[in-house]
Order: sequence, then structure tokens, then C-alpha cells
Amino acid sequence: MYHDKHSAGFVLHHPPRHAKPSGHSAMMRAACAFLAAACLVLSVTVYPASAATSMSSLQNKLDKISASIKQHKTELNDAQKKEAAAKALESELKEKVSVLQSQIGVLKSQISEVQNSIGVKEQEITAKQNEIARKEQEIADQWDDFKSHMAAMQELRDGGSVAMLRSVNDLYELLTFNEVMQDISVKDTEILDNMKAAKEALVADRTQLVEERTQLQNKKSELDAQNKQMQSKQSELNNSVKEARLSAAEAQQAQKNAQAAIESDEMNYEAVKKEIQKLIAAAAASKPQLSFSGFICPLKSYTRISSEYGWRKNPVSGVNKLHAGIDFAAPAGTPIYAAASGYVQVAGWSGGGYGNYVIIYHGKMTDGNAYSTLYGHMRSVATSAGRYVNQGDLIGYVGSTGNSTGNHLHLEVWKGGSKANAVNPRGYIPIR
Ligand SMILES: [Zn+2]
Repeated sequence: MYHDKHSAGFVLHHPPRHAKPSGHSAMMRAACAFLAAACLVLSVTVYPASAATSMSSLQNKLDKISASIKQHKTELNDAQKKEAAAKALESELKEKVSVLQSQIGVLKSQISEVQNSIGVKEQEITAKQNEIARKEQEIADQWDDFKSHMAAMQELRDGGSVAMLRSVNDLYELLTFNEVMQDISVKDTEILDNMKAAKEALVADRTQLVEERTQLQNKKSELDAQNKQMQSKQSELNNSVKEARLSAAEAQQAQKNAQAAIESDEMNYEAVKKEIQKLIAAAAASKPQLSFSGFICPLKSYTRISSEYGWRKNPVSGVNKLHAGIDFAAPAGTPIYAAASGYVQVAGWSGGGYGNYVIIYHGKMTDGNAYSTLYGHMRSVATSAGRYVNQGDLIGYVGSTGNSTGNHLHLEVWKGGSKANAVNPRGYIPIR
């Protein structure tokens, strides 16, 4: 049944890899389950070639939307991170502002304290000034007394005036008067000296006060300068807070945009899914048939055929059992290609010992029979259920998963699309 011309016409296509949607959202899972379910239905009913093309393009659309959702989710995530960072910065800056404000408060109370001290000092200086003035007045008065006393004594020494002598009754009184006058003059001098000393002390006090006031004024201008510096720092921080707020708001807007894009993508996704559903329904209604003209070998190279198709006795149990396929021993990771075009019915894990496996339904061959092929024990699957594949498309890689003891491809060919009719692949697949 193997036609050389088909094999010769085989061109290995490397279509762009459609990244399997990695965002495992519930929707994605639902879509995968949906496609898998659709393919179970398709085990009997298959799309015509034209439906296959639109199915493939819809599949591509789904992939693109998935990629877009993933992209927007990344953007959403980035924007969320950016907002969190901006908010953290804002609260950090606010804390700095509040520390600075309390420092400014302390500084202001220090400034007002110093200002009060300067006021007190001014009052003290004024009081001192008044005291000095009073003292000067006292000195001047005392000086006048002194001068009149001295003048009186002078008059006495010069023989005394008529008026002075008239007021004295006898010599004794005159002498006593003279003594009293001398005492007075000594006292005057003493008093004057004391007053001058007191005045000097007052002046010294005032000088001290003025000096203290100068110190306070210096202290105040120092505090004023600090205050000014802190105020400008505060306004700088307030600006930074504003910037952080703005950046948080921008990030929030970006999140909204990303969220809206995701929602719109998800709606598109649903719409495309519905289209696929329609296509499947239409295909099911018309029961069309795929067709193909022959198989190629799914491996471009392999080490050897390690097991042929046929009945064999289990060496342990002694039970006779059909080996329903043919085993190609090949290194792990060797690419496996679709033996003919068709629909991927199954792509995933088998509970029945095939490990990672793929079943492709090919539709009718030129002999009038429908065929399916099964590829078992793959290291990994490189297609997905529901996909239309061309002959030669990559579908997976050789491995040793499931009930297997070494790296090989177990290949089955089903005639009539059923495992019950697993035929010897040698009759269909070009094997060297
Ligand atoms: Zn096998």
C-alpha cells in the first residue's frame, strides 16, 4: 500500500510554534477540556478540509488571544507592583515629612523662647538704663549739695559772712558749726564716691546685658537659618510626595487599562470558542470525511526496529497477546512527525500504558478506508487535541513514558479508525 511518490513529495513543514497557553486560568482549562471533549465527539465525525482550514485559523486566533491575555496580565502585574512601590515611597516620604515637621515645631518653640529672652533682656537693659539715669541725677544733686557745703565752709574760713555770724550765738557754736560742716563735706565725698561706684556697677551690668542680648540675637539668627533650611526641605519632600501620588495614580490607570484589555480579550476568546463550537456542530451535522493519499515514516531517523507487530507469548505469564504496533528504537528527544494529515484526537497522558501519546484521525485514504495512527511513550507531546495537522508536522518527541523500558516510538495504525482494527504498520508505513 506504500506509494513512493507520496513519500517523495513529502516536505517537512516547520510551522511557527503555537505556544501552548501558559496562563492556566480557569477559562483556559475550560477551553482545553472543551476541545478535548469536542475531539471525543470527532472520533467518528470529522471536519472537511475547508472546515479544517477555518478550524486551524480559529485555533490560531485563540492562541493569539491567549498570548494577548498573558501580555496584559504581565502589564497588570507590573502596574500593580509599580503602584505598590509608589505607595510605599509615598508613606516613607510622609513619615519623613512628619519627622521634619516635629523638628520644625521644636525649632519654632526654641526660636520663640529665644525671642522672649531677648524681650526680657531688652526690658532689663531699659531698667538698667533708667537706674543709671537716676544714679546720675543723684550724683548731680549730691554734687550740688557738696558745692554749697564747700561754699559755706569757704565763707567760714574767710571770716564768715554777716549773715552766717548773725546766726551763731557764741564761739563754741561757731566752732561746732565748722566741725559739722567739715563732717558734712567728708560725708559728701564718701556719698559721692559710693554713688560713682554704684553707677559704674550699673554701667557694667548694662554692658553685660547688652552682651547677653547680642548672644541671644546670634542664637536666634542661627535658629532662623535652620528653620528656613528645614522649611525648604519640607516643601521638597512634599513635592516628592505629590510625585509619588501621581505615579501611583498612573499605575492605577495602567491597571484599569490592562484589566479592560483582558476583559475584552476574554470576550473575544469566548466569541472564537463559540465559532469553533459552531464549526464542530456544522461538521457533526454534515458528517464529512477527511481524505489523504498515504503515510510517511513518523521518524526521520531511528536506531532499529526493536519490536515487530504480532502475537507473542509473555515469557512470565505465558499469556498470548497482540503487540498492536511496531517499535522504533531512537534516542530520547528525536522529533516525531504526523504520518499523514488529519485531526489530533488525543494529545496527552494515557492511563493505559502509552504514557504521553497522540492519536491522529486521518479520514479516508485512497483505498476507501478511514485510518488513525497512534504514537506512544513520547517524552513530551508537541500538539494538542482538536488541531488539524499536516503530514510531516511535529507532534512530539521520542521518550520512554508509560509502560516502556527504553526510548522508542510505539506506532499503531488503525484501519476504520478503531483500535480493534490495529493493522501491521509495515503494510502502510515506509520502513527501511
Ligand atoms: Zn510497542
